[in-house]
Amino acid sequence: MTDFAHTLNAWPAERIADGLAAARPADVEAALSAQERGPRELLALLSPAARAYLEPMAAEAQRLTRWHFGRTISLYAPLYISNLCAADCVYCGFAARSMNREKRVTLNPAQIEMECAALAAHGFESVLLLTGEAPKTVTVGYIAQAVSLARRHFASVSAEIYAIDEAEYRQLVAEGLEGVTLYMETYHRPTYAEVHLLGGKADYDYRLGAMERAGAAGARKLNIGALLGLFEPRADAFWTALHGRHLQRVCWRSALGISFPRLLHTPERFDVRYKVTDADLVQIMLAMRLFLPESGFNLSTREAPALRDRLIPLGVTHMSAGSSTQPGGYATYRRGEADERTNFREVLEQFAIDDQRPVNEVVAAIRRAGYDPVWKDYDHAFDRA
Ligand code: SF4
Repeated sequence: MTDFAHTLNAWPAERIADGLAAARPADVEAALSAQERGPRELLALLSPAARAYLEPMAAEAQRLTRWHFGRTISLYAPLYISNLCAADCVYCGFAARSMNREKRVTLNPAQIEMECAALAAHGFESVLLLTGEAPKTVTVGYIAQAVSLARRHFASVSAEIYAIDEAEYRQLVAEGLEGVTLYMETYHRPTYAEVHLLGGKADYDYRLGAMERAGAAGARKLNIGALLGLFEPRADAFWTALHGRHLQRVCWRSALGISFPRLLHTPERFDVRYKVTDADLVQIMLAMRLFLPESGFNLSTREAPALRDRLIPLGVTHMSAGSSTQPGGYATYRRGEADERTNFREVLEQFAIDDQRPVNEVVAAIRRAGYDPVWKDYDHAFDRA
């Protein structure tokens, strides 16, 4: 059992629920003015009592974010290279039991090049490669080749793939992988077992240890998150924040990032049990910013344009833009373009996105908010320093 598993055992859901219910306005005020914030302060900031303090929390979140990151938002794009998946996560459009065999594709090297070139033409310098979980066909060797191809086009390449061993993460880092994104989805073990029915992802403990393995293998960015809506969102936010602190301690060479994916569009067979309102999401982001002032915060195109724009000054540091959640969505199987290179076919997407604005409109929105869009936030020259 990892150190962090012990920490989780010390904070069961019931203890968190009691702490949230017991928090009073005086606890929130003390948490707001504290120099150092620990689990007790985090609970107060996540509690219902803190809902009346969103304004001062936002002011403090903005101050901390500007102190650590300036007035910048780094842009990145997701690039799905395969939608094959042998796992069965009941909330996901790629799940094995959602079938759609005819809509499954794995991009070949030429197609990956074409997708990379299309994104690079928009100005992106950071890309996130994504796959489902099909390790027998979408092997670590294939992903390593994709990383190597992407490095020809982008200064920074990250991957959001299935959990792998440390030696396998090393193989990807050797090809130029900079970051690893891997969400625990929910830290609540019984709920985790209910929604992850097949495949390697059903192994809670192996997934929980993945980011430590990625850090040990040399990944310079570790990005974690919980899929908000699977379990009580304040509890999952609390556990995510503790996981972040743990990773900052044990993987101190790596920069920590947090994402806030919220379940909005799900397959018919799955109902979102814990609806997360906009106000819930805002409070969670603010509380986590006050607890983790130095970590990057990512906001994807899952969220609607108006909310994304409102969140820019409240702690966000990284945003995706112009995204497609299907393999080949930028060039290879692009919809409705009379372009000879494209060969349109219906390809399964992982989930629908709510911010469908083109990249230039997202860039304009960032500028309107008084922030500078940053295309490249890392230089491999630092590796040699
Ligand atoms: S969440 Fe990932 S592993 Fe699970 S079904 Fe979707 S693509 Fe597969």
